[in-house]
Amino acid sequence: MKKILVVDFDARSRLETPCDWAEITTAAGMQEAVALTRTKSYDIVVAAARIPGGSCVELFTTLHRNDSKARFIVMRNGPFDRDRIHSGHGLAIVPHPFNIDDVAIYAGNARDVVSFPPTYKRSRVLVVDGDTLYQELVVRHLAKYRCDTAASLKEAIAMVTSATPPYDAVLVAAQLPDSLDGLGIKTMVESTEAPVICSSNVARFRAFSLQNGAQAYVEHNDFVGISGTVDLAIAQAQHTKLLRELALTDARTGLMGWTSFRAEIAKNIANSEIHGTQFAVAILDLDRFKAINDTYGHDMGDVMIAEVADRISLAASHINGVPARIAGDEFGVLLSNVRSANDAKARIDLVISKVNKSVELGLADWTPSCSSGIALYPEHGQSVKALLEAADHSAYAAKKQGRNRAYLCTNEIVQKITQSREVSKSLSVSAHAMTGFSLVYQPIVDFTTNRFSLEALLRWDPPCGHKVPPDVFIPLLERNGHICHIGRWVVSHAIKDFWELRKADPACDKLNLNISVIQLMDAHFPEYLQTVVRSYQLAPSCIGLELTESEKLIVDTVAHSAVVELHDMGYHWTLDDFGTGYASVKYIEAFPFRSLKIDRSIVTQKKVPAYVKGIVSFSHTLNLTVVAEGIETREQWDAMKEADVDLLQGYLIGRPMPASEVLNWWQEYQGRSLPAPLTSLEPSTES
Ligand code: C2E
Ligand code: CA
Ligand code: CA
Repeated sequence: MKKILVVDFDARSRLETPCDWAEITTAAGMQEAVALTRTKSYDIVVAAARIPGGSCVELFTTLHRNDSKARFIVMRNGPFDRDRIHSGHGLAIVPHPFNIDDVAIYAGNARDVVSFPPTYKRSRVLVVDGDTLYQELVVRHLAKYRCDTAASLKEAIAMVTSATPPYDAVLVAAQLPDSLDGLGIKTMVESTEAPVICSSNVARFRAFSLQNGAQAYVEHNDFVGISGTVDLAIAQAQHTKLLRELALTDARTGLMGWTSFRAEIAKNIANSEIHGTQFAVAILDLDRFKAINDTYGHDMGDVMIAEVADRISLAASHINGVPARIAGDEFGVLLSNVRSANDAKARIDLVISKVNKSVELGLADWTPSCSSGIALYPEHGQSVKALLEAADHSAYAAKKQGRNRAYLCTNEIVQKITQSREVSKSLSVSAHAMTGFSLVYQPIVDFTTNRFSLEALLRWDPPCGHKVPPDVFIPLLERNGHICHIGRWVVSHAIKDFWELRKADPACDKLNLNISVIQLMDAHFPEYLQTVVRSYQLAPSCIGLELTESEKLIVDTVAHSAVVELHDMGYHWTLDDFGTGYASVKYIEAFPFRSLKIDRSIVTQKKVPAYVKGIVSFSHTLNLTVVAEGIETREQWDAMKEADVDLLQGYLIGRPMPASEVLNWWQEYQGRSLPAPLTSLEPSTES
């Protein structure tokens, strides 16, 4: 998997993009991006031209200085105004906002592309201008290039079409003696592969030339600008060419790269269709590569990759396989003419055994191993994507079985992949139409008061009828961005239900909503919530917002400021699932939480850990209310009381239920002298 870091203030670029070949991390600005790259190395960094804290060029320069090996890609709004972007660090440009498909064409072997090829200085440039004196001045400023000149469009076209080698860039005046309307630019773009740069003093030619295919625009007489722009245009063009080539072979190992491997699979599909043959795709994932990098450093990691690549390549040649390097520590082997599943497995087993010999890493030895997943065509997938997905899931199964082995794809794996794809599709349809969603409410109580709160929990009934739990569909909604409008739906419906319940019984004190970090990246979310709350004349303080720890939260400044903004408006934040996440105390320091919810996994341990008491007293000194969730038994209830927890939630108190059952539940709950023993765990109407 490639690792991509996307840096942009625009929340659209930071929606999670499902991607089968890259793991995407996002940052809202310079600071976060730099912080993230300190702990993890990225293959590709895609940044908006202007980002909070600086420009993309500053970011790239900093990362470059910090020894980042990433490929840098700039996102720009079209039409591309490339002339304003500095040259220097291997910039490629894609349209803004972030779109993985745009990045894909640059990303083939991104890891191995460090910076621009420095060859642009000997390039050939054609300068086209009716004013010969001006021509001369330009040529003088472009002294590092071999320049030719032309005074008319006609002459220039004749030169570009006959030049060998071809020109590397053409600088053309918008108005030429034989083309006063600027359309000469268009003609020039159509006549040459080289980047065309328009120069003019007439402002309207800027947009006009860019729209007509010019790579850049520069002011007449801006000689510094002209030189920088030509540099960038040439470097850009060379870079794109290099990247296209590199996408086909992996520079570090000399093996086939990711793009060609996919093309090879496609070719085999076509062949097999005609001849009715079977073939197999294997993914071999180097085990514990991260440990190698962490222990011996990245240089030794590179040695290991090169060595393993050689071994795989040699072994593949014995078993009639085509080897490839498809990502950092992931290899592929394509086996044509597979007789049976066992035949494929035996051949890959052989490759794995060949990898299994020790490699010298400086002073130490390390015996590498691979976990492999094998998928057969047509049995396990009929497209390139499906086959790779099946092989990938199978490789994961191999890892789970203890690594250093091959795992042949099974029907269950195929079924699981199909199901999750169907769920995802069906969910998107539901989310577009806003059908099939409903809300249930789970009560939260304390040991003494005669009031209760409700936590709104989302449910989805897919048209296929299978139950899909929120733990599955919410992450999918987050990934495809639908969580933002579904989240608004939750806000408006839950607040309406709450308002009605509260009107009927004021003991219904507070409503808790689960908020996803992605929702916080939507700049209008606070305003939306406020409008709904006001429309029911409710005080923000009766709305609690539950936030789950996530790495994103800590690094995303937009999410952070949304939390603060909502806090300042009077909403109460709860840190959900406390104790499961990655550095809990960090969150308490960084965010204005009013309470924290101890996760069910802690509450349900056989013996409630002693540190719960510590957490509670620590929280109390910080004026934080403590909630315990997932209380199912009397023992847990007692343990929480003992630990001085303030609020309780769980099946023992009440299961999530439709709004229409809440008041009945409350009547019944008040009637209980003590929380009822486990018998209250009968399924509610919800299930
Ligand atoms: P959560 O916020 O931690 O919600 C608590 C989950 O624990 C709920 O699962 C609830 O049904 C379950 N639960 C409560 N008491 C008990 C108990 O005593 N025993 C057991 N075994 N389970 C208990 P649910 O409803 O499946 O929700 C799962 C997660 O989905 C939630 O975890 C929350 O993170 C997310 N979620 C649910 N609704 C929404 C929503 O509207 N928006 C967002 N962003 N996330 C939501
Ligand atoms: Ca929650
Ligand atoms: Ca929780």
